[in-house]
Amino acid sequence: MSCKAGQRHHPIRLRQPRLTEDLPGSGRPAFPLNVCLNPPDLSAWRNPASGISGVMIFESGRSGPEVVISGMVHGNEYAGGHALDRLRKTLPVPEVGRVTLILANLEAFDRFDRSAPMASRYREEDLNRLWHPSRLNNDEQSCELARARELRPFIERADLLLDLHSTLWPSHPLFIVPPRRRSSDLACALASEAGSPTLVLTDLGHHGGSRLIEHARFMAVGGTGRSCLLEAGLHWEPETVDVMEKVSRRFLAEALNVHIQGIAQDKTQPARLAVVTDNVTAKSGEFSFVQPWVGNTCIPRAGTVIARDGHDAICTPYDDCLLIVPNLRPKQGQLAVRLARRTASSP
Ligand SMILES: [Zn+2]
Repeated sequence: MSCKAGQRHHPIRLRQPRLTEDLPGSGRPAFPLNVCLNPPDLSAWRNPASGISGVMIFESGRSGPEVVISGMVHGNEYAGGHALDRLRKTLPVPEVGRVTLILANLEAFDRFDRSAPMASRYREEDLNRLWHPSRLNNDEQSCELARARELRPFIERADLLLDLHSTLWPSHPLFIVPPRRRSSDLACALASEAGSPTLVLTDLGHHGGSRLIEHARFMAVGGTGRSCLLEAGLHWEPETVDVMEKVSRRFLAEALNVHIQGIAQDKTQPARLAVVTDNVTAKSGEFSFVQPWVGNTCIPRAGTVIARDGHDAICTPYDDCLLIVPNLRPKQGQLAVRLARRTASSP
């Protein structure tokens, strides 16, 4: 099924009469709430030597890169807790510099309930929307703002940040970086190893506020801080922990090279760069995809109908369009999917 978007880029939303019989495979799938991974035992993180709950520091005593790996910025994404706890138990003292592991939202994690596993993403507000100076520096108060301000010193000194996340809906793993060449170079270095996610996505930011990877340390023009976010797989699947651990170890092994040289040492497979071009938001409560797309699916032809939203048909605006982390049950006003175009070089 296609609509006549042709080669034009915008708009992608075409108004059409609603023809329910013309909707193969349409409908909103049930939330995938199977919890196949038990919450981790994080007792070792409650009163660590750093003096700050959830923060573990591995210090070489010699100058070198400040490396930070964060997980559980969203409290119910506890695959990141498993991955960082594995690292904690096995991480050697770095030869140079300092490695800081951060479990960011333990308070939300502590409220995890497997009968309502989405409810503990945060307590009062999304911790991954608070990292702009206008939020960090104002006089508002919330659990998450207090935690962001507590963690801020570790972020402000980070040369390299890897932020571990997972997804509710199925998606092939990918890296997301802020629109800075130095960060996409970092992600390409991580993506160059066989078995790692190969898609490196630069996006438009998040309309709800700045994410951790968009802290000024990583956004400053002419700055040096590099950041990337890993979407490692489904929230509550053991395989997601394995992807996070593998990428984290690669990140630690590559950190010094990337910090000094800015490039990967070898490239066993080419990373695929892509840039988000469109955020598709559900205008109605009836938004439904024509099929349950898996994240990172590539739609070959421009004009292919991917979803319906009330009387609108949502079409791909160009050939080889990537569907990034589709939300298969968006509420009205929520982000339903991001569309991305492959590119040969970083913006
Ligand atoms: Zn997340």
